Amino acid sequence: MRTALLPIGDVDDDVLAHLALELSIFGDVEILPSVDVPESAYRPRRGQYLASDLKELTASYPHDKVLGVANVDIYEDPLRFVFGLADIRGKSAIISLNRLRGGAEILKQRAAKEAFHELGHTFGLRHCPNRICVMTFSNSLADTDSKGKDYCYFCTLRLRTAGVFP
Ligand SMILES: [Zn+2]
Ligand SMILES: [Zn+2]
Repeated sequence: MRTALLPIGDVDDDVLAHLALELSIFGDVEILPSVDVPESAYRPRRGQYLASDLKELTASYPHDKVLGVANVDIYEDPLRFVFGLADIRGKSAIISLNRLRGGAEILKQRAAKEAFHELGHTFGLRHCPNRICVMTFSNSLADTDSKGKDYCYFCTLRLRTAGVFP
């Protein structure tokens, strides 16, 4: 499987390199040249960017999975903000680092969790009731910090059935 990381706007190289390493459990990972943040995705009334508009940017690449990585604050109705968004059983996903800020190490860990979470959705996984599973829904940074970066036993089984893992 070929996964691509698409930096949207100015994204820290360290974080991208860390994500590429973590996501290599799925196969080859390529870091694409960055694209500009489209101003058409900005919603002045909210002071935020619409996540689904940014996610569209990932559609034109030939890879099996494309994860957009942005730095701007994103939302999707009816939520006040989102850490990321993905097509269920699709190829496109996006995360934003905007609300994951902390020290350099914690930012990388949080970004990896959100990346695994959103890619999990592209493989068909839904939210998991296991609070330490990476597929549990994060409503706050505390939720992101308290979950692990791994798929639980049941989510892993589903990924095996889907052929993602041997
Ligand atoms: Zn989710
Ligand atoms: Zn799970």
